Amino acid sequence: MSAAPVTGGPSLPQERKLVTSIPGPKSQELLARKNAAVASGVGVALPVFTVAAGGGVLVDADGNSLIDLGSGIAVTGVGNSAPAVVEAVKAQVEQFTHTCFTVTPYDGYVEVAEKLNAMTPGDFEKRSALFNTGAEAVENAVKIARHYTKKNAVVVFDHAYHGRTNLTMGMTAKNMPYKDGFGPFAPEIYRAPASYPFRDGLSGAEAAEQAILHIEKQVGAANLAAIIIEPIQGEGGFIAPAEGFLPAIQRWANENDVVFILDEVQTGFARTGDMFAADHEGVTPDLFTLAKGIAGGLPLSAVTGRAEIMDSAHAGGLGGTYTGNPIACAAALATIETYEQENLTERAREIGAIVSDFFADLQQNDDRIGDIRGRGAMSAIEFVEAGSKRPNAALVGAVAKTAGENGVLVLTCGTYGNVIRFLPPLAISDELLREGLQVIAEAIAAN
Ligand SMILES: *Cc1c(COP(=O)(O)O)cnc(C)c1O
Repeated sequence: MSAAPVTGGPSLPQERKLVTSIPGPKSQELLARKNAAVASGVGVALPVFTVAAGGGVLVDADGNSLIDLGSGIAVTGVGNSAPAVVEAVKAQVEQFTHTCFTVTPYDGYVEVAEKLNAMTPGDFEKRSALFNTGAEAVENAVKIARHYTKKNAVVVFDHAYHGRTNLTMGMTAKNMPYKDGFGPFAPEIYRAPASYPFRDGLSGAEAAEQAILHIEKQVGAANLAAIIIEPIQGEGGFIAPAEGFLPAIQRWANENDVVFILDEVQTGFARTGDMFAADHEGVTPDLFTLAKGIAGGLPLSAVTGRAEIMDSAHAGGLGGTYTGNPIACAAALATIETYEQENLTERAREIGAIVSDFFADLQQNDDRIGDIRGRGAMSAIEFVEAGSKRPNAALVGAVAKTAGENGVLVLTCGTYGNVIRFLPPLAISDELLREGLQVIAEAIAAN
């Protein structure tokens, strides 16, 4: 079966339009095929099969047009099939598709590295290495930090998410669905308490003191290669640490010859209203891990940071068959230029203001809305049982389901599964965003 061809990108009609129930008959037919052909472990959040997407909408196989508040998990910041990305990919695909950079190199990879070195915070000499996925970037940042420090231990935090490979599963906090039954995990990973202002009530300095004491007593700086942390925790619940937490952790790492790594896989590239979340926090990590928003939907990731650390690994120690694929690099250059030219950091701030104002109003009359948080176009609501801080995951599941049935794709997250997160494409219009929020408000009221 095939749907009539539809071209994606921003010229798609920017509307919410339902012509069948969700999922419609064609999506249901495809879902039956998926269930018979694809491993069950590969789940789906909303079983509508996409045929086109762009701006702020996704069009499905039945012709429904849904408002996209997820961006494929913070990936299509510039919008799906963004024109500059499409053009760059087409041009590259006609030149060559692959050589393996470590066999015969090409300039697109070098240009992405130059760009990342220049645009990330930190006024010092930098190097970059490119990979395919966020997890692979995290794995390589750990490899590099261990090689440089000649130490083994790695500190991660409560509520952390770093990926699904063996090492990164071990670094991730949440058991279901990420880790359950998939162990044993790699050794020498230690988990420290994070800063979670809504639940711990600690100042940034207090939370940092608690974490540092934990690290000193349970790991020891002499054994510690790296501390890795998301500047706003993503899958863990869009938890922004209390002010001062990250700078204090960084100071301790710098003083103790521990590589400080910021995992900006989800927060990077204009999402939080700054090009990188580090900008807002005033921290300058030794290494960044970057992915998701980097290349407009093509698979690419990077480790970027201090030259002396990055250069410590021997030639041949870093790489991979597909790492820094030329098509993904061409897409990244077009994507980064789009963030800059269209001033999408500013757009992310506008989106953030619309979302937080909307829910602040709603919170006045609904005490199940426990916390509204995040920054820029990475914002979230944590739901609780009325009059308490007990997590209300059932409500969140029901709201996401009702919103989906009404043509709004919204994602959930949180260690306790009680957070609705907003990650709209930065290409979404105000009207469509407001309509999407209204549908969610109705879904909250109905559940
Ligand atoms: C998504 C994510 C990862 C993993 O990226 P993949 O591309 O899915 O491997 C790592 N760290 C953070 C903070 C993420 O949000």
